[in-house]
Order: sequence, then C-alpha cells, then structure tokens
Amino acid sequence: MSSALLSSLRAGDHDGALAALYALDGAQSSLDRARDRACRTAGNLMKTFAPSGAAVLFSGPGRTEIGGNHTDHQHGRVLCGSVDMDMLACAAPKGKNVIRIQSEGYPALEVELEELAVTTNGLLLPQMASELKEAGVEYNVLTVVTGYLARHIQSVFSALCRGGFHFQQYIPCLDPLEGARGEQSYSLSPEEYEEFLKTLFDLWYRELEQGRYWSVRYFDNLVWMLRGHAPEQCSMRGCCSLQYLVEADGSVYPCDFYGLDQYRLGNILEHAWDELDRTREEIGFIEESRHVPERCKGCQWYPLCRNGCRRDRLAGEDGLGRNYYCDAYAGFFSYALPRLRRAGAMIGI
Ligand code: SF4
Ligand code: SF4
Repeated sequence: MSSALLSSLRAGDHDGALAALYALDGAQSSLDRARDRACRTAGNLMKTFAPSGAAVLFSGPGRTEIGGNHTDHQHGRVLCGSVDMDMLACAAPKGKNVIRIQSEGYPALEVELEELAVTTNGLLLPQMASELKEAGVEYNVLTVVTGYLARHIQSVFSALCRGGFHFQQYIPCLDPLEGARGEQSYSLSPEEYEEFLKTLFDLWYRELEQGRYWSVRYFDNLVWMLRGHAPEQCSMRGCCSLQYLVEADGSVYPCDFYGLDQYRLGNILEHAWDELDRTREEIGFIEESRHVPERCKGCQWYPLCRNGCRRDRLAGEDGLGRNYYCDAYAGFFSYALPRLRRAGAMIGI
C-alpha cells in the first residue's frame, strides 16, 4: 500500500538514507527538512493518484553540464560537475501502459507507452516547443532510431510535427563499437532502417505536397546534394570531418562516436591544437575513412550515399568496408529518388 511509505517516512524508518543524502552537515534541521520534503512528495502522490500499489521514492541527482551530454555512450563520461540539488519523485505502479505525471507547479500530463507519444492534454512536446519559441530560441530535435522507434515512426513524426518541431534529425542507434552488429535489444537492423526511411520519407513528402515543409536533416542534405551542393552532415561527405570531442578529464577524441582510449588524441590541458591534430594524423583517423570499398566504387548510389558514417562501416579485408546499412540505403534511394528530385523545387532549394 502506498500509505505504508508515508507512515514509515513519518516514523523515521528512512532517516538513515535521508541523512546520507541530505544531512551531510550532521544537523538535525537538515534531516527534518529532508524528511518533510519526502513526506510531502509521498503525500502528494496519494492525494493526486490514490495508487493501490506500493510506492517508491526516487532521487535523481542534479548536475551541471559544462559540455557534452552523451551518457548513452563513451561509458557515460561527460564534462560535468555535481550540485547539491536533486529531483525527488514518488511513483507507484498502476498496471497500465500509461505514465501519469504531476510535477509541482505544472499541469498534469500522460505519456502513452504503446505509442511513445504524449496523449492526454498533449502537453509535453508542444509545451516545450512553444516555450522555446517564445524565448526566441532556435532548436532542433534529435531522434535516435532504434528498432522499436523505427516500427513506430508514424506516431513519432506526427507527434513532433504536432508539437511544432520544425527542425528534425534522425540518426541510426549505434551498437557497441566492439562486438557484432544487431545483437542489442535496441538494435536497428538494415531491414528496419530501410522501412523506416521509406515510411518517414512518405510522411515527409506528403506534408510537403500539402504545403508544409518540415526540415528533416537527412532528406534536406540529399535534396541539397541532388541540386549540386556539398552536404553539411559529416556522415554524408564520404570521410570524417575535423572534430574535437573534449571529455571530463580534458581528454580529446576525434569524434563523439569514438571516445575510446585507442582514439585519444591527447589532453586539452597539456597539448596544443597542432599536437592534437598531429596525433589524429598519426592514428590515421580521417585518412582511414577516405577508403572507398570496391563495391561502393561501382555503385550507382555512391554520389548520394558515400558509404555513410564511418562508425557504421563494417571491417573489410583492406580497411573499412561498406556500410552496415548498405542495402537500406540502396533500397531507399531507388524508392525515393524521383520525389527527392522534385522536392528541391518544392522547398525552393
Ligand atoms: S565517425 Fe561518423 S560522425 Fe564521426 S566524424 Fe566520422 S562520419 Fe562524422
Ligand atoms: S549503397 Fe552500399 S554499395 Fe552503394 S555506396 Fe552506399 S554503402 Fe556503398
């Protein structure tokens, strides 16, 4: 029962954990404040949702993020510092695939897990978009395409459009650098990616025909290339670009997809830029990505595909081979090429 948590908090059963988190100064007043806050949070859950299942209290530690937010790879190393603030939430299971959230001072919202889209009140995405717009902030939304997301692209795209997210970017989810492709629960297979690209393109093009242009970075670049321009996205250039990824300890890497020891260029605190560049040359990071596999050399799609991002290229006999998503790209290009050509004139590029 949810009320059991509140009773045990009031009785001081969790004082040890609360003191370890919030009363490092050893003061009774700090502990009292933390206990009051925990009781208020648990009490609000019961007042608002009256759950029947057991409630649990969660604390999400706060942090400052000075640069980078890629906790999803690079072993979670980012340039950040801890702060003595946290987010406290009390949650209980409801037995349904809907998450109901009530934050203090904000309207309630519901997230439908089946559709991965905000449903009731539709507040989360539109609210974020309108607040950014009001503040005059230009933004884009980056969507990482897992196998699951690929199968639900219709509802994701329509939620993003409904939310007013004009600039959209979709990138295939990466598997771990070492190890075989496609073995993770979230992995995106070439078949799924091809279907994803075709479906998203159909949705995007239909909007365009009705006079609504949503910027999808990959499609924009393809249209741009078909009009004779160079792509701005590095994964479409044919080789890696010059980047400096700086990690929390000052270590520098040549791309945020390669934040690993064997690709370390040096340390920003100890090495000058030209020294970092020299190491990049020594490990042949960009040079290696210039290699064009035999199959790509003879491929009609090479001018558009350019073998994609180096991170998705499979190991070949003589260096980096063709892209893991090769078949997806080839299938997509032959499906979409006539409309991609027409899109240029419709967008006015
Ligand atoms: S690995 Fe991919 S994202 Fe990184 S620099 Fe090379 S092409 Fe760009
Ligand atoms: S479609 Fe395949 S073979 Fe053709 S350029 Fe792309 S990766 Fe190479």
